[in-house]
Amino acid sequence: MQVDRTLTPAAELAPSPTAAQAAIGVLGDAWTLRILRTVFRGQRRHSDFLAALGVSRAVLSDRLAKLTAARVLERRLGDGGHPQYWLSESGLDLWSLFLAMWQWESDWGTAHDPDSWAPDLPRPQLTHSGCGRAMRPELRCSACQAQVSPFETQAWQQAQEPTAQSVPASATSAPLFRRARSDAAGHGSARPAQRLIRVIGDRWNSAVVAAAFRGTRQFARFEAELRIAPGQLSARLQELQELGILRAQTYAGSRLQYRLTRAGIALFPITLELMRWGQRWLQPHDSAAAIKHLPCSQALQARWHCSACQLELARETVRFG
Ligand SMILES: [Zn+2]
Ligand SMILES: [Zn+2]
Repeated sequence: MQVDRTLTPAAELAPSPTAAQAAIGVLGDAWTLRILRTVFRGQRRHSDFLAALGVSRAVLSDRLAKLTAARVLERRLGDGGHPQYWLSESGLDLWSLFLAMWQWESDWGTAHDPDSWAPDLPRPQLTHSGCGRAMRPELRCSACQAQVSPFETQAWQQAQEPTAQSVPASATSAPLFRRARSDAAGHGSARPAQRLIRVIGDRWNSAVVAAAFRGTRQFARFEAELRIAPGQLSARLQELQELGILRAQTYAGSRLQYRLTRAGIALFPITLELMRWGQRWLQPHDSAAAIKHLPCSQALQARWHCSACQLELARETVRFG
């Protein structure tokens, strides 16, 4: 399917983008994500990126310039005057987004298939140096320590202002989204290893998924909220169905609704991380980014923990592979 990927994303059109949109504006690009993952592995130079990623020089220069302008990377001159790229403070803070991506790819991608392994893909094992064991990351609420389930969260604004005009009636008292009923496995026809990058590495796809997490279901509402042209929206909804992230169902007569599959729902930690990072570094005043954790009624501050020893994870204590 041909999809025009050159249009201005919603994040740049909206007068005051949400924190998630702002983060997507910086990070929602496939090469950007691949380059950053490679930097997290300790690669710093043009030649490293060219060898690891098979990216063209023009694309690489463009993305490095944008990441430097966004202050995610810092450009320093190394030995022999060759530029090196280092993660800034905000760049280092992306470690937990990559952790969330690792988990999704481990559950829904082919990270364990040796034939699909490539330098820009996650490695099969995650080790916590705090306890020295292999683990999987678990997202817990810092207030009540319960594992975070997307079915036990609610957008804070909806919880506080149940009659707000701007909120669709169906969303006022609903959880952030509902548990899907008979869920298909969620495997689309695309090569699984590329699915995640195709979803969050495309700004429009990313924005559609974020809207779905806010409870948006119908074509007209996606169109209005994202300010996206109908043809573009159709293409993205189609692609997200092919990728096994959304499925279309008919409700109440003939109205189609687009709902997240299990693989789509499993993107929740990634969406949370995009919101958290966007709010911390780009849009500190986005009140829409607040999420209520229903079991404890507190504003959700999610933290990653080690499944083996239960301790909270820190960037320095996680080793990828
Ligand atoms: Zn809680
Ligand atoms: Zn541990």
